[in-house]
Amino acid sequence: MHFDLANIQDILSNQDPRLTERLAQEAARITRQYFGRAISLYAPLYISNYCSCFCTYCGFNNHNHIPRLKLTADQIEQEMQKIAQSGIENILILTGESYQMTPLSYLKETVLISKKYFSSTALEIHPLEEEEYRELYLAGADSVTLYQETYNRSRYAEVHLAGKKKDYDFRYQAPERIARAGFRQISLGILLGISDLAEDLFALFSHLRHMEQTFPGVEYSLSFPRLRQIKGKDLSLSRIDDISFIKTICLARISFPRIGINLSTRESPTLRDHAIELGVTRISAGSNTSVGGYSTADPERQNPQFDIADSRSVPEMLRMLKDRRFDPVLTDWRRIDNT
Ligand code: SF4
Repeated sequence: MHFDLANIQDILSNQDPRLTERLAQEAARITRQYFGRAISLYAPLYISNYCSCFCTYCGFNNHNHIPRLKLTADQIEQEMQKIAQSGIENILILTGESYQMTPLSYLKETVLISKKYFSSTALEIHPLEEEEYRELYLAGADSVTLYQETYNRSRYAEVHLAGKKKDYDFRYQAPERIARAGFRQISLGILLGISDLAEDLFALFSHLRHMEQTFPGVEYSLSFPRLRQIKGKDLSLSRIDDISFIKTICLARISFPRIGINLSTRESPTLRDHAIELGVTRISAGSNTSVGGYSTADPERQNPQFDIADSRSVPEMLRMLKDRRFDPVLTDWRRIDNT
């Protein structure tokens, strides 16, 4: 179903609980039709918090005086071993946006290590040129996550004050470069709380439809991270309440029946347990959002990108899913080496 901007605005502003219920039922029906009760699990790994950008909403921004860390190859291996021991097979590797501190060679080395431990390696890194993406794909990465954050150009300029991330178009065009480089999966998203939700949602859906039409062979997914506190400090620019958040997931599911919808540990256990009934198909588990947080950093001195709301371990998540009659999926894809 296609929602135009006016539809989305009406739905988000309508306070009638019966509308929310109807949306939830339809989203749940579609999700069960296309995904059954399968829920995939992944874990994020932050390998560096160096960042040359100043995004006003992020704890890693270059005006924030926090200890900067970048894992060595040995530390990356140690972190990955720890994550792999928990049973996780899908990893999401994240960095701040510093082309100098996390150059292509470093990212490539990380992907090569990752290949030893995980069936799927996703990257959430600074936007690259097509040829650079291709190198990472050939090294063994198969998926890239890249959020536009907001599609409103003037708002984008207000919250992205320094660094390469100021370049709206370079970021907006990155998914096309990723697809041309050969990646099988691309995740798009918006950061909820920095601009008008209805406008951003409509623009995100338009962007995704454009990608589906241009690169139909790619598998797409969507994410809707809400701004979180960082060490207790609230950096939200506008509040997105739980009902609007749930409606957002339902609108995405009804608009795109077959795409994956991801949900991180930014959200509470209660909300995550509810969201997997409606439309979410991929969740993180046992997460740590500090560099070296799994095994190498002192827990007392960690500087997370955002505060985690759901700290359940991988075994706890597996138990919760099974108790609720979901089928936890640790591996649904494995790369046959292309070298
Ligand atoms: S959002 Fe990304 S680019 Fe912006 S400050 Fe945070 S880590 Fe850096």
